[in-house]
Amino acid sequence: MSNPLEKIKSAVRGLRAYTLSPERASVKLNQNESPWDASEAIKRETLRRMGGRAWNRYPDFVPAALHEKLAAFAGWKSEGVLAGNGSNELIQALLMVTVGEGRRVLISEPTFALYRQVATVLGGEVLSVPLDAGLQFDVAALLDSIRTNDPDVTIICSPNNPTGCRMSDGALETLLAAARGLVVVDEAYFEFSGETVVPLLERHPNLAVFRTFSKAMALAALRVGYLLAAPELAREVGKALLPYNLNAFSQTAAEVSVEMYDGELAPVVRHIVAERERLFEELRRVPGLAPVASRANFMVVRSTVEPKRVFDELLRRDILIRDVSGYPMLADYFRVSVGTPRENDLLIAGLKEILG
Ligand SMILES: *Cc1c(COP(=O)(O)O)cnc(C)c1O
Repeated sequence: MSNPLEKIKSAVRGLRAYTLSPERASVKLNQNESPWDASEAIKRETLRRMGGRAWNRYPDFVPAALHEKLAAFAGWKSEGVLAGNGSNELIQALLMVTVGEGRRVLISEPTFALYRQVATVLGGEVLSVPLDAGLQFDVAALLDSIRTNDPDVTIICSPNNPTGCRMSDGALETLLAAARGLVVVDEAYFEFSGETVVPLLERHPNLAVFRTFSKAMALAALRVGYLLAAPELAREVGKALLPYNLNAFSQTAAEVSVEMYDGELAPVVRHIVAERERLFEELRRVPGLAPVASRANFMVVRSTVEPKRVFDELLRRDILIRDVSGYPMLADYFRVSVGTPRENDLLIAGLKEILG
């Protein structure tokens, strides 16, 4: 009998599965989630609306009410909004309708591992441009690759996971102007940067923006993300989605969160940003550590102690971080999410002991 695995695409066989180490700890700083749960007000109103809804009926075919709220929230037209079961689903859908054998996807690395994985599974070729020595986007090199290789899709994670750098609007516009393919900006962390590329959508029909409810919106458990793009482009991406991809509960919670954003979520985002700046300053003063300034709710830190050891030593202290030393360029780095003030204090104290 032949080996059934021979039927798996060879590019897929060559991939390592995207996984997360299964460790648990009470101070959880490994996934860039909000350190504060969704508020009582948001939970109560979501449950109230779900209590009054028929559970035997499918959700809306198109979640129009959510699309309209997201459009108003983001400052874009509702026909150009697509909600999904996490932004990862929408990233996959966009790549499904663009990538196949002979198609090229340009990314800047180190970055979110999913882009390379999905593009490879779909049979595309991944072109990679390294960040510069200061872990910022190498815009000249990206531009050069766009002109030379004519990628079908360019994906920019901005602010970038795991390094926290943001591409300026001016730099992005040079890429948009040079690109004959689509340019995708993953804005999973835009709330923490205070900036967005959404205003560029009007002038650039080749731009698509992805956002999520998993980070600043504090709904990671419910899996909601959305895409913003020209209506014609959003319609094509929607063809790769399964019907009813977004369940009624998540849809309702997302609507309530958007409605209550100013009162319930914006103050939390400001608090996290202030904590990020405090954490950065504190870590800078620890001999042996060099944090990298970040526009998101996490940062990478260069360490004279091996990152794997820092990870293990912190885990012994019930603190979970992300060892990113396997990423390109980051052999000497670990990543920490910004936690509550108490969690950040515990992290700082732990790191001082480990480096001391
Ligand atoms: C966390 C994260 C997301 C969120 O994905 P969801 O599927 O919406 O949870 C998207 N992109 C990046 C770069 C992330 O770090």
